[in-house]
Amino acid sequence: MTKVKGGPTDSGGPVEVPEQLSILPLRNSVLFPGAIIPIDVGRRKSVRLVEEAISRERPVIGILTQRDARTEDPNDGDMYAVGCAARILKVIKLAKDNFSVILQGVTRIRIDEYTQQDPFIIARVQAVPDPATTDVELDALVMNLKDIAKRVIKLMPELPKEAGALVDSVNEPGQLADLITSNLDLQVDEKQDVLETFDLKARMRTVLQFLSRQLEVLKVREKINTQVQEEMGRNQREYVLRQQLKAIKEELGELDEAGGDLEEFKEKIAEAKMPAEVEKAALKQFERLKVMQPSSAEYTVTRTYLEWLVELPWSVSTEDKLDISEARDILNSDHYDLEKVKKRILEYLAVRKLKSDKKGPILCLLGPPGVGKTSLGRSIAKAMGRKFLRISLGGVRDEAEIRGHRRTYVGSLPGRIIQGMKKVGTNNPIFMLDELDKLGHDFRGDPASALLEVLDPEQNNSFSDHYLEVPFDLSKVMFLATANIIDPVPPALKDRLEILELPGYTRDEKRSIAKQFLIPKQIEEHGLDGKVMELTEGGLCEIIDSYTREAGVRNLEREVGSVCRGVAVKVAEGSKDKFTVDAKDIPDFLGPQKYMSEVAERTAEAGVATGLAWTPVGGDILFIEATKMPGKGTLVLTGQLGDVMKESAQAALSFVRSRARWLGIEENFLEKTDIHVHIPAGAIPKDGPSAGVTMFVALASMLTGKPIRNDVAMTGEITLRGSVLPVGGIKEKVLAAHRAGIKRVILPERNQKDMVDVPDQAKNEMEFVYVKRIDELLPLVLTEMPEKYGKIPSGGGTTMITPPTPGQPPPTTA
Ligand code: ADP
Repeated sequence: MTKVKGGPTDSGGPVEVPEQLSILPLRNSVLFPGAIIPIDVGRRKSVRLVEEAISRERPVIGILTQRDARTEDPNDGDMYAVGCAARILKVIKLAKDNFSVILQGVTRIRIDEYTQQDPFIIARVQAVPDPATTDVELDALVMNLKDIAKRVIKLMPELPKEAGALVDSVNEPGQLADLITSNLDLQVDEKQDVLETFDLKARMRTVLQFLSRQLEVLKVREKINTQVQEEMGRNQREYVLRQQLKAIKEELGELDEAGGDLEEFKEKIAEAKMPAEVEKAALKQFERLKVMQPSSAEYTVTRTYLEWLVELPWSVSTEDKLDISEARDILNSDHYDLEKVKKRILEYLAVRKLKSDKKGPILCLLGPPGVGKTSLGRSIAKAMGRKFLRISLGGVRDEAEIRGHRRTYVGSLPGRIIQGMKKVGTNNPIFMLDELDKLGHDFRGDPASALLEVLDPEQNNSFSDHYLEVPFDLSKVMFLATANIIDPVPPALKDRLEILELPGYTRDEKRSIAKQFLIPKQIEEHGLDGKVMELTEGGLCEIIDSYTREAGVRNLEREVGSVCRGVAVKVAEGSKDKFTVDAKDIPDFLGPQKYMSEVAERTAEAGVATGLAWTPVGGDILFIEATKMPGKGTLVLTGQLGDVMKESAQAALSFVRSRARWLGIEENFLEKTDIHVHIPAGAIPKDGPSAGVTMFVALASMLTGKPIRNDVAMTGEITLRGSVLPVGGIKEKVLAAHRAGIKRVILPERNQKDMVDVPDQAKNEMEFVYVKRIDELLPLVLTEMPEKYGKIPSGGGTTMITPPTPGQPPPTTA
């Protein structure tokens, strides 16, 4: 039996350690002399051991740590051979066969021999108390250990405050080392190592090492902690400040809704693959934007500008197809006839395919509305695999509309060209400049000159828009133009254009277009099909004749669409019948007839002549009415006539007066008479010299009282000397006459050459008479000739020699 002093907290005096000790195996921890630990006891042998021990007074048992905590029933070899004798301070019974036992380490023990295994292990042991020596080195080690221990304690806020004082109070080197080790966070084998080190100095050095390591770990932990905290602190601070700022801005109404995505611009700038120079400009604006007050006007301006820059197709393009036979197929499958135009378009595409420089002329499709100009443009785009884009130049009178406003103006925007490029999203679209003839110009600059730059292959690779300020490359764009009339197009622009004329369609052509294209298209667009609906030939003709009057087929398409809509309603209402829409059904769908055949309605009347007019929307017929009343020779002209037309009315009247005797009317008829010439459709301005012939006929008929045939129409300029001069727009006028059901057309002789362009159908169905002189006219147009016509009254004038007879070559004046 060895008597040892109790540990530092021992209260009961020296403890006797018997030579035979009951051994309690311990998992996962090591008991040191002086330390007090609670353990749970539940294993059968351990429970028996505790039960036996508490039956004794001040029991002491041996505690050995298991080498492997998983061993359930450890034998001799399963435990370390050095352990600790312990006093049982307290046993608390938690349940049957389950105790919580509080142990106090007393002294190191070394196992000599196991003497019993059951019901619990008993061994013969030797107590190994620490020797009571001191020397300088030990003192130094003690000091060192205490010092580091206290520093470690400081870094571990989770330890109680008394820990430092406790360390200070222990002066025995071995005890100190044990105390520290049992409180350190070490591996079981490391602790066991200390327990087994009987030599004090060696033990203290080992502990010193562990402690120093612990100190380092703690220091690093501390450092990381402070760093994390600092970081957290900064982030948190920033977050809180930002939230406050947001709240303030919200309060002031200055919040920029999209404020968060400013950084996105940077990505977008990179994605847009701009030319270097442009990218530089964009980045500069981006940097400026970042430091701007979101509520300022400049912020909005700069932001919008940047949005424009990043959204333009700087480097997005589609791949060209340019397969000529495919292009031909597409053009043919989308359009009826138009052979000449299609041929020229194919030639144009072929040249582009062979020759990559883009210096060719710009194709300009010229013709009235609804003849398929836009749809040809779309087909070209389809054939080339490019995107299609159309902008209307109608009413553009300001250069800035083409080239944009400088950004200094509030609300300024890029011009239509750049807007179009953004909309279409590729840099090589087919770009149709519509209504080139409607381009105006005034004091705000000449849009035509800006357009010239757009169309000029030498310049358009760096088109400058006032708003963008950086050049944009338009050289990959293929431009097309359209116009209704060529005359108003500025000459410089005209120079760059190659004109392809689409004059308008005859009734038969319209029928074919409708049958092959418009009706199937509309039927499909309205979700019907041929089985449900059929528009008969008669129905179609009724629409063409009584609901449209146009050179193209736009209104025709619209009216066919209306019929389809009407049928669609009936189908949707559940009707299962097939609808055959005939002429008599048309008013049900389209309402009352919009156009009567005025020519047919009109009975032949004296003083009303049918003229042919040219308008930008194709040719048309017009009526010239003349009447007389008592008066003093005033000529009244109404119907919004332009100056040139007024003058030709004057000329017609003068010519009538000069031919009065020949016409068989009183020479001084004007002395007691006022004459009124009116051209109905009074709201539409009319001008030009080509109604001269018609005015003469109207006046002559009115004054002689002889009616004019209602199926004859005429056009031509007159001179006071009696000649008929050629006029423009013959093709359109002839087509209009054909549409109106005219049978005979009177044209100036020198216009005969223009007849090549007139479709055969019109040529075959009407009679054409070419006149050189005014005197030839009356026999061609009047239902009957004046009785006194051509009779030179006695003592009469000298100008006429032989009067003309109907159908005979007219006289010439000397
Ligand atoms: P524009 O641009 O000359 O005013 P559009 O191209 O808008 O005329 O044509 C109007 C409608 O008429 C379109 O639906 C078009 O497809 C059709 N169209 C015009 N001409 C023809 C044609 N020759 N063949 C088939 N459809 C045509």
